[in-house]
Amino acid sequence: MSDPLISMAGQPFVPHADLTGAVPGSAGPRPDLSVVIPVYNEEEGLQALFDRLYPALDKLAAERALRYEIVFINDGSRDRSPQMLAGQYRLRPEVTRVVLFNGNYGQHMAILAGFERARGEMVITLDADLQNPPEEIAPIVEAMRQGHDYVGTIRRNRQDSAWRRYASRAMNRLRERITRIRMTDQGCMMRGYSRHIISLINQCHEVNTFIPALAYTFAQRPIEIEIGHEERAAGESKYSAYKLMRLNFDLVTGFSVVPLELFSMAGLALSLVSAAFVLLLAWRRIFLGSEAEGVFTLFAILFFLMGVALFGIGLLGEYIGRIYQQVRQRPRFVVQAFLDGSNARDD
Ligand code: UDP
Ligand code: MG
Repeated sequence: MSDPLISMAGQPFVPHADLTGAVPGSAGPRPDLSVVIPVYNEEEGLQALFDRLYPALDKLAAERALRYEIVFINDGSRDRSPQMLAGQYRLRPEVTRVVLFNGNYGQHMAILAGFERARGEMVITLDADLQNPPEEIAPIVEAMRQGHDYVGTIRRNRQDSAWRRYASRAMNRLRERITRIRMTDQGCMMRGYSRHIISLINQCHEVNTFIPALAYTFAQRPIEIEIGHEERAAGESKYSAYKLMRLNFDLVTGFSVVPLELFSMAGLALSLVSAAFVLLLAWRRIFLGSEAEGVFTLFAILFFLMGVALFGIGLLGEYIGRIYQQVRQRPRFVVQAFLDGSNARDD
């Protein structure tokens, strides 16, 4: 942490401090395109990202006559990622903006911070690990220029582990059934959003959210296009099975109450079946006499119902926990510093 731009770590925290000093900022004219990239412990792959992303965007800028900016959000990396981002900012200050979080708040919070900072008419989100090829930005821009306010993507030859592909397919199917959100490939974060969608998202203040789904709810002319997908350039996925499960709960609870309704229905059905069962047992007791056999069958049924009940309570807890987080209204993330030649939070 010798970099003066980011040497704040470990020092008394000054919110939204201007650490950029004499480095010229990017407070120039509004860009047409903002590329928002969350970064968490990506030191191994960042240089490769810079080497491909900047040329791809420079080419696009020249060909399509557009101005761009790149907003990186360091999501509390514990490796050299913040130093590398600061280095890149020094190299290309006119198109680079960096938001440094003081801790790890998750990919979606990082992207939301990027949205607050992005100034472009079009905003494209991208992963830092080069799984989304920067060259695919061009077709997304093209679709947006044709008037689409939301450009979803479908990964051609998805390069992820088999269990993740199966799990996503199952989640995709579930989401299609219980929400109104129509996405062929919900997991791909490389997407394009127009300014009006970004403004609406910036008004949302959701603590637990799933950005592609949230954006979709505001879209008026959505479209989906196919894009390439590559293996992670370096490093490992930051999503454990547990984190993926949490994220999918965010998606389900954030956009649907159907699971709760299903539970009421299941509860109703089970009550009816149990009532019939009680009648049957009463009839048996009166006409056939007392019985002791079948006690283990009864246990099995009881345990099954206990499982169902516990799952129901847990599901309710998922909703209530999120309500609790939301009503506390704590800051969703804390920005340690902006590297973009400004010290205002909402310039
Ligand atoms: N990421 C982040 N915060 C986190 C986890 C991930 O900012 O807590 C970033 C990460 O650096 C990458 C993107 O989110 O740019 C996607 O993460 P990853 O590639 O690990 O996810 P996967 O591709 O396996 O779904
Ligand atoms: Mg990835």
